[in-house]
Amino acid sequence: MKATSARDTPMMRQFLAIKADYPDAVLCYRMGDFYELFLDDAVLVAPLLDITLTSRDKNKDKEGYEAVPMCGFPVHSAEGYIKRLAEFGHRVAICEQVEDPKEAGGKRLVKRGVVEVVTPGLVGDPSGLDGAQEVAVMSVVLGRPGEPAGLAILDASTGDFRATRVDGKPGDSVPELLLDELRRVSPREILCVAEDREQLAARLQSLLPKAVLTRVPAVSFDPSLAPVQPAGFDASGTGPDHRAAASLISYLGVNQPSALDHFPGLRNYRLGDTMVLDESTRTHLELFENNIDHGRDGTLVELLDASSTALGARRIAHWLRYPLLDPAEIRGRQDGVAALVERDRPRARLRLALREVRDLERILTRAARPTATPRELGVLRGSIRALPEVRASLGTGSGSEDLLPSGGLPAALLLPEPLPELTALLEDALIDDPPVIARGSRGAGVTGYIREGYRPELDLLRESAGKGREWIAGLEASERERTGIATLKVKFHPVHGYSLEVSKAQSSKVPDDYERKQTLANVERYTTPALAEVQGKVMGANERAAILEREILESLRLEVVAQADHIRAAANAVSVVDALASLAEVARRHGWVRPEVHEGETVEIRAGRHPVVESILNDAHAEGFVPNDTSLDSADAQILLLTGPNMSGKSTYLRQVALIVLLAQMGSWVPAESACIGVVDRIFTRVGASDRLARGESTFMVEMRETAEILRAATPSSLLILDEIGRGTSTFDGLSIAWAVLEHLHDTPGLRARTLFATHYHELTDLARTRTRVRNGHFEAREWNEEIVFLRRLVTGGASRSYGIAVAQLAGLPRPVVERARQILKNLEGGELDPEGLPRLAKEAGAATEEPGQLAFALGAPAPRPAEEEEVLSALRELDPNATTPLDALLLVTTLRDRLTKGNNS
Ligand code: ADP
Ligand code: MG
Repeated sequence: MKATSARDTPMMRQFLAIKADYPDAVLCYRMGDFYELFLDDAVLVAPLLDITLTSRDKNKDKEGYEAVPMCGFPVHSAEGYIKRLAEFGHRVAICEQVEDPKEAGGKRLVKRGVVEVVTPGLVGDPSGLDGAQEVAVMSVVLGRPGEPAGLAILDASTGDFRATRVDGKPGDSVPELLLDELRRVSPREILCVAEDREQLAARLQSLLPKAVLTRVPAVSFDPSLAPVQPAGFDASGTGPDHRAAASLISYLGVNQPSALDHFPGLRNYRLGDTMVLDESTRTHLELFENNIDHGRDGTLVELLDASSTALGARRIAHWLRYPLLDPAEIRGRQDGVAALVERDRPRARLRLALREVRDLERILTRAARPTATPRELGVLRGSIRALPEVRASLGTGSGSEDLLPSGGLPAALLLPEPLPELTALLEDALIDDPPVIARGSRGAGVTGYIREGYRPELDLLRESAGKGREWIAGLEASERERTGIATLKVKFHPVHGYSLEVSKAQSSKVPDDYERKQTLANVERYTTPALAEVQGKVMGANERAAILEREILESLRLEVVAQADHIRAAANAVSVVDALASLAEVARRHGWVRPEVHEGETVEIRAGRHPVVESILNDAHAEGFVPNDTSLDSADAQILLLTGPNMSGKSTYLRQVALIVLLAQMGSWVPAESACIGVVDRIFTRVGASDRLARGESTFMVEMRETAEILRAATPSSLLILDEIGRGTSTFDGLSIAWAVLEHLHDTPGLRARTLFATHYHELTDLARTRTRVRNGHFEAREWNEEIVFLRRLVTGGASRSYGIAVAQLAGLPRPVVERARQILKNLEGGELDPEGLPRLAKEAGAATEEPGQLAFALGAPAPRPAEEEEVLSALRELDPNATTPLDALLLVTTLRDRLTKGNNS
């Protein structure tokens, strides 16, 4: 029967059978040097990858024939295509030929099977990834409302695997802390069971629009069924964190089974051990992304990262993402920085040595894969070869001469043996600059990467092939002589092998032992029995050598897999050393100091600077950054209220204090003359709506929701950065809300968080009259050559209110207007306090009704006037200047003045 569909070929039947097992993945079907995609996959993928969509059928134009859409990309450039598909959120199943085509003998179809599935979070090829970035898959297990939830995170490209438990609050279906952690990690892919999906999906859409939510079977969350049990993993555990971790092991096992051979150990962490940094704080402080283009320019991490390796870059980012709370732990890290900060030469040597280590974690992942190329093993060798020098530049391990102190530092710093055997093995076995071989076609055609002298058997094969080639090389000359054909040539063709080429004109002269192999337009090609025999030997030897090289390569790879834990431990140690060296380098470069950290609730900073603004100002012009002091104490100077004009430096100062605290708690030195920091459990940042219009979410609702969260969650150990809150609404309610929030922060015993509050509501300065732990401050401004000059110096007391009027005067507003404005301002100020000097605005309900007029007056409404004044005014209103003589006018003015004076005296 005639086939009516291209689906009826044996190949398509094989494809469809395999595809049936991977319905949710794009299937890349290996054919020779290409990966081909068929049917819906092809239609989906072609436009994404910008490749041509074709059809497989020669019969496609025939009537009634169903065409098969297809597209494809070459194996040698597959990594890039696959990575892009994963980035678009797709799963990609890689289907390889799983037997040697020779075994099939051309009589039947070569067996094929899926060897791995690349998912958005399990990107097979870690090359080309941003070194500082984590590529995480996260698994989430929600408890019932009020019960703890669990989460686990795996970066398969680096082998970082960690899990934690998150306490729930009654009523929370998804705990707030879990959502915070999700945003902090920002995974590419999130695993969950079907029941949790709906709840999570709704929350995730807005939080992490780019993350892919993947549903996995409930059984994969059973720790006792995990396919491997890495160190630190409790297979008998039943907690939500254990279950989340189990699902990640299963997920990797299902999709990339070979990775189970070197599965990383699990690190159990507790969110309570590190500072809570919510998203709004990370954003406002521009820790990782700037608020202009979301790039790295002008961020704290960019300034801090002077690392020599991607390992160190990731470690610094991690430290910044998870600042510490335990002063002893912080001091341990500081000791490491301290040892490196003072010694420029040894540090320079260390940083130079580190550079050779490169991204050892990701290199390991590549080199351990079954598809590892000689080049990848060579790169791994280069990195582990550099370890002894790193160790040497750290000291001998004997004590006094060591660069880093061992006490109090993470054990990782005591570098494990830097793998001498593995280094020597790779050194002996691989040539200096081993070649790349395309994915999945390892060894085919490419040989010569195993070093001479490593395996005698290989050397013999090469020798015999070499001898044969030598003989062939001499053949041209000897045959020319023997046949008398001066133009005879020896040719090589990859398929047809060696031949003797003679032009057609000369072909009558060839000897009898020449056998014709091939006829081309102008030439004939021949072989001889002797040549055929030598060629057979050469090709046989080459083939056997290639197989042998592949076997050796595989044995090297297995050795790497066996040493994976060791290599990871070394990489871990390097990352810590590099991060410390980087912090030391930055401290030295910018003249930072070691902060003292303690458990108290104070913050004392002398001559602090904003690290990023300072570095920009230093680059830009000579004036430089003006340092300022800070003194906060939850029992005394709890709230610092900053007033003053725009551009005076309030926001910069607020952020500067937060950044210094953050730096201190990650173990870094800080931009100040001295700093003494009582550890902060959480930094809350709230920036008034109008200051973040750029983010397109300037709604008052967002502002108030965040403020509510602060009042709910802050503790006396927290640090609050409140910049212009209440600005997103009208003056009256904005001021009232700000006032009430400050009172609440001051008066609630369990709250008492150290607070920096910048505001343009000058009325708030009166709070200090009734609230003992409120301090006023402002930034000095001076008039200079008809201009206002900001001195950027923080001084005590509220800002002068007449600043705006001074500016108006400088701008050339008519003198009478300026004078009048001064007068009105004075009236406003006069109405702010009651006769006892207490702020009228703060009157309790009931009390406030006694003087409703005064309250309104303070806020700019017309004030009631004494009767005399009203009389004078109505006289003036009734006056017609055109009908008044100058003398009458003079008399009237005198009378009116007298009336007023009399009124005032009475
Ligand atoms: P405000 O919040 O009071 O409107 P900002 O903190 O935004 O003021 O500061 C305005 C500008 O002043 C900043 O962009 C910065 O360049 C500069 N600036 C702020 N503080 C200082 C300082 N201490 N030294 C030098 N320049 C500063
Ligand atoms: Mg500001």
